[in-house]
Amino acid sequence: MKWRGQRESSNVEIGSSSGGRGGGLKMGLGGIVLVVILGLIMGKNPMEMLGLVAQMESSAPRAANTPADPNAPVTEEQQFSKVVLASTEDVWGRIFSASNQKYPPPTMVLFSGAVQSACGGATSAVGPFYCPGDQKVYLDTQFFDEMTAKLGGGGDFAQAYVIAHEVGHHIQTLTGVSEQVNKVRARGGTVEGDGGLLVRQELQADCYAGLWAHYAQQEKRWMEPGDLEEAINTAQAIGDDTLQRQSRGTVVPDSFSHGSAEQRMRWFRRGFDSGDLGQCDTFKAASL
Ligand SMILES: [Zn+2]
Repeated sequence: MKWRGQRESSNVEIGSSSGGRGGGLKMGLGGIVLVVILGLIMGKNPMEMLGLVAQMESSAPRAANTPADPNAPVTEEQQFSKVVLASTEDVWGRIFSASNQKYPPPTMVLFSGAVQSACGGATSAVGPFYCPGDQKVYLDTQFFDEMTAKLGGGGDFAQAYVIAHEVGHHIQTLTGVSEQVNKVRARGGTVEGDGGLLVRQELQADCYAGLWAHYAQQEKRWMEPGDLEEAINTAQAIGDDTLQRQSRGTVVPDSFSHGSAEQRMRWFRRGFDSGDLGQCDTFKAASL
């Protein structure tokens, strides 16, 4: 991908974590039960012990987003992410202005290890995510390395595709699509499953990533031979069925949330081939 020398977005925060990987002590229901049982065995008041644990939890080091050291050298990965984010601002800025609207771009937080967001704390294990609460795209810089190593995806265009997909979720927050899906979920409606609303939401973000790629190719001529295949391989590598096959050995369609690799590829291509926002209405599509 020929991205060097292009505009870099200023909507980027470099988050460094002081808590380290998975800092803090998380206690689920199982943990509470265990503490109560331990308390009973040891003849101590379980409530007292719980209080002690709660105290430990709150004093445990937490990941904090500290401002970046202005003198720290800018890594190539950061520079690349800023250029890609800037290009999504160009694409969406134009699409919004076509309907006389101003595009409020998201902020991108580049972190390594752990990070705090309005959606809670996250570690690298979560992968890239978008938080509607603070309208920020969170990218773990280690994720890209792991993506290349573990998933067989990787390469710069694949990384750009992941960024464009997360920005797609930002668009869905602006358009109200995410809220509608959340409302259905809040009412107790089913959003999971093959062909469910969550899959449609994810496939739409893939189609939006395709719109970005269309622009990157048509106007910027960023793509080099092999880039499209790279993006498609990534879509394939991070399709839910591939991930599930790797982790469980079998595919369980009911728990799909991102769509199959084939579906992800198809919707990405739809955005890429058409460059038309109207082609990305996965919610109206009879078949995905
Ligand atoms: Zn997504």
